Amino acid sequence: MKNLGIYIHIPFCLRKCPYCDFYSVAEAQMGKAEISSMKSRFVKALCSEIEAAGIKYGKGAQAGDQRQADTLYFGGGTPSLLEPEELKAVLKTVRNGFCLTEGAEISMECNPATASQEKLAAFRELGINRLSIGAQSFDDGVLKILGRLHNSADTVRTVKEARKAGFENISLDLMFAIPGQTEEIWEETVKKTLALKPQHISLYSLEFMEGTAFTARLEKGEMRETEAEADRAMYEKALDQFGAQGFVQYEISNAALGRAHICRHNMKYWGLEEYLGFGPSAHSYMIGEGGRGVRFYNVSSVEKYLEGWSGEAGTADGVSAVEIFSQNSLADDVCEYIFTGLRKTDGIDLKGFRKRFGKDIWEFYGADVRKEFEEYAEGGFAAENDDNIRLTVKGMNVSNRIMALFV
Ligand code: SF4
Repeated sequence: MKNLGIYIHIPFCLRKCPYCDFYSVAEAQMGKAEISSMKSRFVKALCSEIEAAGIKYGKGAQAGDQRQADTLYFGGGTPSLLEPEELKAVLKTVRNGFCLTEGAEISMECNPATASQEKLAAFRELGINRLSIGAQSFDDGVLKILGRLHNSADTVRTVKEARKAGFENISLDLMFAIPGQTEEIWEETVKKTLALKPQHISLYSLEFMEGTAFTARLEKGEMRETEAEADRAMYEKALDQFGAQGFVQYEISNAALGRAHICRHNMKYWGLEEYLGFGPSAHSYMIGEGGRGVRFYNVSSVEKYLEGWSGEAGTADGVSAVEIFSQNSLADDVCEYIFTGLRKTDGIDLKGFRKRFGKDIWEFYGADVRKEFEEYAEGGFAAENDDNIRLTVKGMNVSNRIMALFV
């Protein structure tokens, strides 16, 4: 049976962070009572969507179409805002609809402002076996600039309580290149991160995304972007320090304490493997007829999602909350495979490419592109051998330029 990953988007936050463009509705704007009622309607709708997908792709599908889930990821929004009873209902629906493989990776993103020891213990008990904690920084001044509701002590407490609750696979999310964050402050954050001995670290530089409060402030001249040079220096220094403590960088923004702790769910995105996304704004990638990819995107609105998946309006064809549906051409699939593949430090497995697309990579792109890639390799930005092509750490700093060769 084929494997797939399942992503579940929980679209609720306590308050909107000013830099964030992920879809969510905030309790601070809507009020506690309204959010609580919306959350319980949402859980029912979510279960309807998962049930319908189970009929199409899971236990209810015809033998040849059946998939089993080997990764399950609760992202958001703030999934740790779910009550244990709500999580239990969702997990039960997933297990009813899909076979979860033995040892499936079941991750949940967790905001330190929302996690209590009791809740973490309940989540672990229900089967969550990997926790991704949004630490972002261990400097309280930087956390304030980011508009986070937690301080560094909350993150330290959350990690300790998660361990007590039985979590042995903990990831910490960090942000750098934040206005007001000096290199010294960043170094201190890196040190404090390592002192907590996580199994996995994700690090992202702050991006000014369209429509966010930060971007509005940037446009008004109230904020300044960190210079590219300082941004790259922070990135490289952190990776060096993580490497010295045994972390292996396996993707542009991710490092794991040994390969056993690589996030298997995210590897599906970078390997262009199948995954189903549930909840508002979630998206899916499935391989359809002729081996071509099909992408479908759920609507980014809880209200519209509820209309699609509540009661009579819900349908079992799995498309009622889908806003965009797109069929990949061969060229789209090849391009996506290369873009996502080059994010991984292992790069692109050339045999795997040939097996999937029926041709050698350079037959697709021709001698000119190959020559340009070889020039990057000679400059130390990329590497190539009989088995794979990849970017070096130096190349990851200019990844957009190299990837542009394959558009
Ligand atoms: S808590 Fe996370 S998802 Fe919610 S607004 Fe902040 S960064 Fe975005």
